[in-house]
Amino acid sequence: MSIFGKKNNIITYTVNKAVNKEMYITIQNGEVVVNAPWYFSSSKIQAAVEEKKNWILSKINEYEKQNIPNIQSVKIFGKNYDIKVLYQNIVTPELNLEENYEIKIILPMKYKKIGNEQILKISIEKMYQQIANTQIDNIMEKIRLMLEIAPEEYSIEKLDGELAKCVGGNKILINPELMQFKKEIIEYVIAHEFCHIKYKTHCKSFNDMLEKNFENYVKIEKELSGYKF
Ligand SMILES: [Zn+2]
Repeated sequence: MSIFGKKNNIITYTVNKAVNKEMYITIQNGEVVVNAPWYFSSSKIQAAVEEKKNWILSKINEYEKQNIPNIQSVKIFGKNYDIKVLYQNIVTPELNLEENYEIKIILPMKYKKIGNEQILKISIEKMYQQIANTQIDNIMEKIRLMLEIAPEEYSIEKLDGELAKCVGGNKILINPELMQFKKEIIEYVIAHEFCHIKYKTHCKSFNDMLEKNFENYVKIEKELSGYKF
């Protein structure tokens, strides 16, 4: 195995020296495989790869275009972030929030072969969890001061199909995916659960309590249509 770089394009290739009579390069599942006679030196192979560099890069690009991930962008606090996936010789996936509203996800090479759908989903879930961990305390405190009530406890956890919920009358569960919305909407959803500490049902007093504190009440409800909380 050998690596060389051309600007940001790094070609990694595997050399197969079985029973080949001639040297030829193939691209299999986006991986470069050099088939060469056993007596070919690695420098000769390296030179051949360099010579075919443009062809190889165009083939890799072609392959990567076919494998555009299903998740192409996600929202954080209502802002759209494009997802850029890179593959490197690393063990653990990495995720970086870039300045230009881009999320760079670096995956170990093996995901090129086995597919990235699942690992991207997990990486994004983790990202929302981390954002929630750092932001929720402040939001909870803001709502507590706004409504002058508070739950006994709360936790940030994955909820199946719900953005947040109030359980047992005094505990609030917050789905990290709530972090995709604008701050105002996040606050509204959490305030909704706070109101459930006081009122079990969506009665008139319940709605009055929310309306009084959120002047964009109607607009927010509209944006949340289809979501459960
Ligand atoms: Zn409710």
